[in-house]
This record gives sequence, C-alpha cells and structure tokens, in this order.
Amino acid sequence: MSKWVYSFGAGHNEGKAEMRNLLGGKGANLAEMASIGLPVPPGFTITTEVCTYYYDHGKQYPSELRDQVGEALARVEAAVGTKFGDTHKPLLVSVRSGARVSMPGMMDTVLNLGLNDRTVEGLAAASGDARFAWDSYRRFIQMFGGVVLGIDHHRFEEIIEHVKLDRGVIEDTELTAQDWHRVVDGCKEMVAEVKGQPFPQHPQDQLWAAIGAVFGSWMNPRANTYRRLHDIPANWGTAVNVQAMVFGNMGEDCATGVCFTRDPSTGENIFYGEYLINAQGEDVVAGIRTPQPMSKARAKPGERSMEEAMPGAYQELVKVRETLERHYTDMQDIEFTVQQNKLYMLQTRNGKRTAAASLKIAVDMAREGLIDEKEAIKRVNPAALDQLLHPTLDPKAPRKLLSKGLPASPGAACGTVVFSADEAEARAAKGENVILVRIETSPEDIHGMHAAKGILTTRGGMTSHAAVVARGMGRPCVAGAGGVTVDYGAQALAAGGQIVRAGETITLDGATGEIFIGPVAMVEPQLSGDFATLMEWADKVRRLRVRTNAETPLDADTARKFGAEGIGLCRTEHMFFDPARIGAVRQMIMSETESGRREALSRLLPFQRQDFAELFRIMAGLPVTIRLLDPPLHEFLPHSEAEIAEVASSLGTDVVTMQRRAQELSEANPMLGHRGCRLGISYPEIYEMQARAIFEAAVQIAKETGKAPVPEIMIPLVATRRELEITKAQVDKVAQEVFAESGHHVEYYVGTMIELPRACLTADRIAEVGDFFSFGTNDLTQTTFGLSRDDAGKFLPLYVEKGIMPKDPFVSIDPDGVGALVRIAKEKGRAVKPDLKLGICGEHGGDPASIQFCEEAGLDYVSCSPYRVPVARLAAAQAALSGGGTDRTA
Ligand code: PEP
Ligand code: MG
Repeated sequence: MSKWVYSFGAGHNEGKAEMRNLLGGKGANLAEMASIGLPVPPGFTITTEVCTYYYDHGKQYPSELRDQVGEALARVEAAVGTKFGDTHKPLLVSVRSGARVSMPGMMDTVLNLGLNDRTVEGLAAASGDARFAWDSYRRFIQMFGGVVLGIDHHRFEEIIEHVKLDRGVIEDTELTAQDWHRVVDGCKEMVAEVKGQPFPQHPQDQLWAAIGAVFGSWMNPRANTYRRLHDIPANWGTAVNVQAMVFGNMGEDCATGVCFTRDPSTGENIFYGEYLINAQGEDVVAGIRTPQPMSKARAKPGERSMEEAMPGAYQELVKVRETLERHYTDMQDIEFTVQQNKLYMLQTRNGKRTAAASLKIAVDMAREGLIDEKEAIKRVNPAALDQLLHPTLDPKAPRKLLSKGLPASPGAACGTVVFSADEAEARAAKGENVILVRIETSPEDIHGMHAAKGILTTRGGMTSHAAVVARGMGRPCVAGAGGVTVDYGAQALAAGGQIVRAGETITLDGATGEIFIGPVAMVEPQLSGDFATLMEWADKVRRLRVRTNAETPLDADTARKFGAEGIGLCRTEHMFFDPARIGAVRQMIMSETESGRREALSRLLPFQRQDFAELFRIMAGLPVTIRLLDPPLHEFLPHSEAEIAEVASSLGTDVVTMQRRAQELSEANPMLGHRGCRLGISYPEIYEMQARAIFEAAVQIAKETGKAPVPEIMIPLVATRRELEITKAQVDKVAQEVFAESGHHVEYYVGTMIELPRACLTADRIAEVGDFFSFGTNDLTQTTFGLSRDDAGKFLPLYVEKGIMPKDPFVSIDPDGVGALVRIAKEKGRAVKPDLKLGICGEHGGDPASIQFCEEAGLDYVSCSPYRVPVARLAAAQAALSGGGTDRTA
C-alpha cells in the first residue's frame, strides 16, 4: 500500500528535511523542526505524489487517501486532546499548500478550519472568550470564502465596514463578540447568495474542500506563470499541510511574527523581523496594523520590540534561531506564534536574500565555522553578483525628493512611471526603463515586477509581497510609501502636493527608501571586503581562467579591477566607430583601389598603434588577444547624403560614384558575407596595417617597460585551413619587418576564431596552422542553428515560451548542437596539438550555465564583458567544485 500521508509533531515524525520533493518545503521542514525538538504544533502532510496522482487520474484521489488522512487526523486529536468537530472543545486546523520551492500564486492558507455554527460556541466556552471565537469564525469564513470558494475579499470587507459604520466605530479592535457574530451572519448570507448554497458546516467537508483547493491552485494561471518564469516543472506538484491551530490572537500574551535569522537585505548577523501582539498570521503580512520590530536594538522611538514586550518568548526564540542556523547551516526565514506566552514554530525555510546579503552571509558563515569556504562559494548565485556591481545614486547629484517609503530591496532605479504590470511588461519589451507603481503587489503582478527596473508600493512592510519578491528578483524596491497616494483611474501618484503622471520619470533608492522626481545621476558600486574575500576563495578552486572582451582603455581597466586575467577578445572594428576615425575607415572600405585603401590605412595606423599600446600597458604582461578586422560591411557603409559626400571628397571622387560603390558593397546577407578573414584576404593591406600597429605597439611597450607583451593575433571567421595559412603568412611577414626595423623581437601567437561549423569539423587541419582557438559562440550559434543574430529576437522568445528551446541559445550555450561542435573542435584540435590553448569569447563566456559547459568541455579560459568578470570567476569556481572538467585531454 502506498503511503500518501506523513505525520509530524507530538513525537511522531515520519518526515525529514531531505524529503522535500515528497513533502514540499514546508512539510519537510515542519517534520525536521519537530524532530530536532522544536515546538511544532502536530499535523500531517499530504504528499506531492497525491497532487501528481490527482492530475493524472482526472482529479481523483488515491483510494487509500481518506483512511490515511483519517488516521493522521486522529493522531493530531489525540496529541492535542480535542476532537475535530467537537462542540465543546473543537480541534481547529490550518490548511496550507507547500511545494518543493515556495511558490506565490497558489492557494496559501486557510486558518481556523473546523469552525461552524456549533463549534464556535464550543471555542467560546473553552477559551472563555466569545469575542475571540466569533472573530476566529469570521476570519475562517473570509479565508475559506476567498481562497476555496473564490469570492472577492472586498465582499467580506464591505460587511465588516457596514457593521463598523452601524456601530460608529473605526477600528476592528472596537468590535464586540456580538458584532463579529453579526459579521459572521452577514458573511454566511452573502456566501449563500453568491454560491447558491450555504457555507459548509461539516468540518470534514471543509477539510476536503480546502485540500481540493490547494491541489486545484497548482494549475491556476498565476501559478503557471510563476513556474514558467522560474523553470519549475508542472509535474513537481504541491503538498498539503494540515496542522493543529495555535492562536496568536487570544490576548495580550499572544503574538505572531515573521522573521529572518539574519538581515535579508544586508546579511548582517542580527535577528530581523516583525511581530504583532494579539494577532493572527495574516495580520502581519496584510499591513492592516503596523508590525513591531523583534529586537530592542532595532526599535525606533514609539515602537515596542518583542524583546521588551515578551522577554520570555523572545529569549526562547533567540535560542531557536541559533538551533536552526546550526542545524540548517543557512539563514532561515521563520514564522512563529506565541499562544499564552508559549512559543510555537510554524515554518522555517532558507530565507530569500539580496545579493549583498547572500555574499555577506556566505562569507560570515564560513568565518563562523558553520560552513567551509567551498560551501560559501556554492552558496552565492553568480548571476546575482550583477546586483552588487550595479550603480547606486551619486551622493553629490542634485535631486528632488518626492517622498519616502521602506528600503525594501537595494539598488537604484530610474524610469517612467507605469501603474499596471501589463503596461510595465509592454513598455519594457520596447526597451523602455519603467518603474512599476502599485498600492500593493500580488502574485498577479510578477511579470510586471520582472519587467520593471524598480518597484514602488504605497502599502505593506518589509515582508510584504513586493518587498520579498523584489529582493528575490534583485529589483530595487521602495515599499509601503504611505505618504504617496496612487490613483489608478487618473493614472497619477501624488505626494506632498506634487503630482507625477504615468509616463513621467522617477528615481528610486532601494537602499534608503527615497523616491525622487525625475532622473538622478548614479555612480559605480564600491565592492565590499566580503566580495574580495569570496573572489579570492573562488580563485583558489577554479581551473578556468577568466579574461575579458574589451577594446577601450576604460573597459580594460574596469575588467582588470574585477580580476580579468587578460583580454580574450579585442574587437578591432569597435575601435573604428570613433568620429575621428570613421571617415578614414569608410574611405578604406569604399576605395576601389589599393592605393586609396593604403592611404586611408596610413591614417588609421597611428590610432591603432596607440590603442594597442594602451591595452598592453593596462594588461601589464597578461595575454591580449587582438582580433583582426571582422566587420559585417553594412555596419560601416555611409548612409546619409552627408556621409557619402564626405567619403567622396576624401577619395577625390564624386557623390554619384560613391553611391554606386555603396550599392555594390551592400549585401543581401551581411552576416554571411564579405566579412572576417574574407575581407583580410581580399584586401591584405588591412590586416597588414593592423599587424604592424600591433607589433609596433608591442615593441614600444617592451622598450618602455622592459617587459614585452605577448600579443595573440586572432583571425576571424575562418572556415578553411587555407584561409588561416594565407592570413597568418601576412602577419608573420609584417612581424619580421617590424622586428628588423626596430631591432627588437617580441614573442607572439597567431590563432583563430572557431565560429563556423566547418571550422569545428576540420579543426585538426586548422590546428596545424594556428597557435590557439577561441570559440566565437555568437556566430557559431548563428551558423549552427541557421538563425540570424540580428533577427532572432523577434521570434525566439516564442520558441522559449513554447519550450521548443529551453533557453535563448544566444544567452546560454546550446550544449547538444553548438556544444557538440565545440567538443569536436577541441578533440580534433588537441589531437594535433595537445597544448592548443582553447577559449571562448562569445557572449556565453559570462553565462554561468555556459561556463559550466566550458569547464566540462575542458577549455582553458572564458572571456566576457568586464562587468561579468566576477560572475565568471565565481561560476568557474562552482563549475570546478561540481566536478566538471573531467574530460580534459591535454
Ligand atoms: C562570436 O562570434 O562569438 C564573437 C565573439 O565575435 P562577434 O560577436 O564579434 O562576431
Ligand atoms: Mg563572430
């Protein structure tokens, strides 16, 4: 017989943390907490396999399920000493979903289940508090009505408002037992009217309806969207947790709270969170009352920390915090309730955190001895480092403060105001920077939050949906800006008499909570000592070297500061767009004669020599790979009349001739046209000039510094061995000339880009000529898929959405196709030259998944844009730790 239900608590723990796939995160951790002796109210978990079964069998449950639930419930009854449905002393339960990973968008929680017209009287008698009992009953009807019956929560709020108005009171707390009784009657009537049948009274019916609602919510559109955005397979399923209720709302010696064992924004090792006295779980997140801080140190004037208000329970919680961190060796996000001064744990999970916090926590925990350095390396998501490397507001920049909210997620963001998630998504798709402004966010807004540069809400605290989700996504967020009013109808927000309309620009500082009108200048980030420490640890374990793709001194300098170990790709054509040079470049391309080209090239030579000297100087002896000209010609042709006239005059010819020449040179398919080494072969003088500039610069730096740079000259778009032979011979000839002229000799290498399938398949022959290979996986992806780099953006997202491709292959390497070609080229190349140096310089060089591939494929280095160098260093370390690189054949 299959086991579908696992009990926890009261000394009967059938699950443990490792069973998260079966029990979901929440269920597995409840069982784990109970088994390490923490106070967990007893309950049971219906497994994720039931969810899968349910969908595989036309929404039917396994036949054994009812009996197993019955047995588990009986065990809870015995542990608590009350009975489900008992009219004197009723057992109440919570029903909560719990997938393997926490997943907004699904049914979350129904509390107080088991209450009905008769058990409510029993609860009143047993607790001696009729007001509490009727308030609990209305909360149950409201939650069950909302999440199980799908009734809009405003319908319930209206009934409460009506009773308050009638009684002339403002706060919920002023309502009496009779008032809540009236609210309950009103809610039941409304439910009966909307649903055409009475509110379910039988506790068993309530329970099974709630279980059904959890499983049903697994496939709702919001959950589906979330899964798609986070690559969560639909067949994982959710579990359902049924647990004996404990009450944080039975009086002043009761409380409920949500907290983190360390600060999830900064990573600081302090107890961080919020709690509310005399409240039930939902009150903390709902933002109706203002939650109070946990520790005295964090309390501002007028606030009452838990440490002061409930010292006993607080101290117990501090011990739990230590136990949990030691046990899980990670920062935990916990939920607790205090019932009549007794602490109960309702949830623990690894806490979501900002990149800065994730870094600090990993490094601190390694120093504290909770984890080792290798574990610390694995703990930080390399892509998240991006957040740390991004700009913050320039402290000196002028700004106009609009208002202030909570600093919910750090980083600065500037963009135009939009008021809906759909609008955020639509505008961002057109390349606009937008700030999503909402009164509060909900799981329906996830796609808009994802698309926005920053998020502003006027309601909710540091644990509100907006704050938690934004931190996880790395979006700057200011939450709970109560001084700002939002009018969706008028598409405007207002604060302190100032109005900002949709489409106008604001700037958010997620670190301070400030909101500014208009744009504010930003500055580059300062990296913390922890960052350097983690990078050092990463450098100790990684095998792959990390270089950068850079042409300008600024980029090269930035990359060096981020730890680049040389330049893996200098795209020389990028050096030609400068206004001082583009004229000469166009002259070179448009000239119909060799002498015309040579004249233009002689104007470019000093620029190039200076460029290369600068790069050699910055890289101070590290390898510098310079790729000779690879311009898809269309990028350089003159377009406007003024440009054509200018080239005509520099070539001493007329506009009509130039127009004809531009026509001649224009190509139907420039990406596959007269570019790369094809150009160098047609016009050898171009590569000659570039080779001369490189060698002259190398000699100059050798003389200047006494240390000769070792240039690596790279020939682009090689398809055949012969192409490389011809171009390499040109380079070698120039080298000999320069060495003879200068009386100085420098070491150099000539290698090739491998960016065409043919080059991969004939790599053995190419390796006989070339000193190294650098995989140009941008073009290799383009040519392997037959997918234009310039046009794929129009339809690739659809392919990814439909699952035809798991990821955009221009972002993350396609291991089966492009990857297979890389492996073939490596095998063939190294078969001829066992020491052949292999790198990658396509965009994939900065993508963690592709770096993992490079490790496994046994490449020597990756090269990526400067800001991704730290990402690559960490990803390379993680790849090494994951045991990649086993097939290195060198
Ligand atoms: C490549 O094709 O991967 C490459 C690095 O070159 P480019 O992007 O300049 O074509
Ligand atoms: Mg290329």
